[in-house]
Amino acid sequence: MKYVGAHVSAAGGVENAPLNAEKIGARAFALFTKNQRQWVAKPLTGESITAFKANMEQVGIAPSQVLPHDSYLINLGHAEAEPLQKSRHAFLDEMQRCEQLGLTLLNFHPGAHLNKHSEEQSLAVVADSINWALEQTSGVTAVIENTAGQGTNLGYSFEHLAAIIERVEDKTRVGVCLDTCHTFTAGYDLRTFDACEATFAEFERIVGFNYLRGMHLNDSKPELGSRVDRHDSIGKGKIGLECFRYIMNDARFDEIPMVLETIDEGLWAEEIALLYSMVKG
Ligand SMILES: [Zn+2]
Ligand SMILES: [Zn+2]
Repeated sequence: MKYVGAHVSAAGGVENAPLNAEKIGARAFALFTKNQRQWVAKPLTGESITAFKANMEQVGIAPSQVLPHDSYLINLGHAEAEPLQKSRHAFLDEMQRCEQLGLTLLNFHPGAHLNKHSEEQSLAVVADSINWALEQTSGVTAVIENTAGQGTNLGYSFEHLAAIIERVEDKTRVGVCLDTCHTFTAGYDLRTFDACEATFAEFERIVGFNYLRGMHLNDSKPELGSRVDRHDSIGKGKIGLECFRYIMNDARFDEIPMVLETIDEGLWAEEIALLYSMVKG
């Protein structure tokens, strides 16, 4: 079974996210549990938490099909003590919000070395940050997203993801989310069936599908290997439809949230329907 949705708005309260997902025919969704551009947010109220859980029941989406995304400000691989501490505490707060909402996944970008650390050093710091947060929480899996590799961002190669996982102590609570746009602009081709076969075989070899906890389904404005992160609507970018047809018909992508972060939210309902129409009976 495939679970496709989009990164929906939580404006007015997290409890609105499941309702926004239902409106576009989503069977999964992503959300920010706080303002993603601010360090500190008010705690979730008991009222909001209760309403969120009730709305989840009402729309029939299971917590396992929700892929919350953390704040863009967080850098778990920072070389300097103070900003690293700030990031770790913000990340812990995000994990605790997931716990409160009964959610089991937290999606985040690994971080950036900012030329203050080598990639290897910074990847080790990311893993230590994950260990620190996992020790203080329960039931929530840290889901590392691969990146386009813009600037000094870590996580653009499958080897980076594997290096982080290797250092995480509790392997049952670490996983990855592959973003098709990031995968492509990081240099892994996805434009044809054969290209998808090769790319995902490499993912299996380096990381392993047993760690795949979610997907971000995005087409790409930039070219293969451009290391630029700019999403496009499904079928309108440089990746094209074949990749999405491949994913929708491959059982390795069953049972996980697959979330659109495409640029025109007015198209999400159509894009979700299009993706489901690709499934061959
Ligand atoms: Zn993404
Ligand atoms: Zn992106």
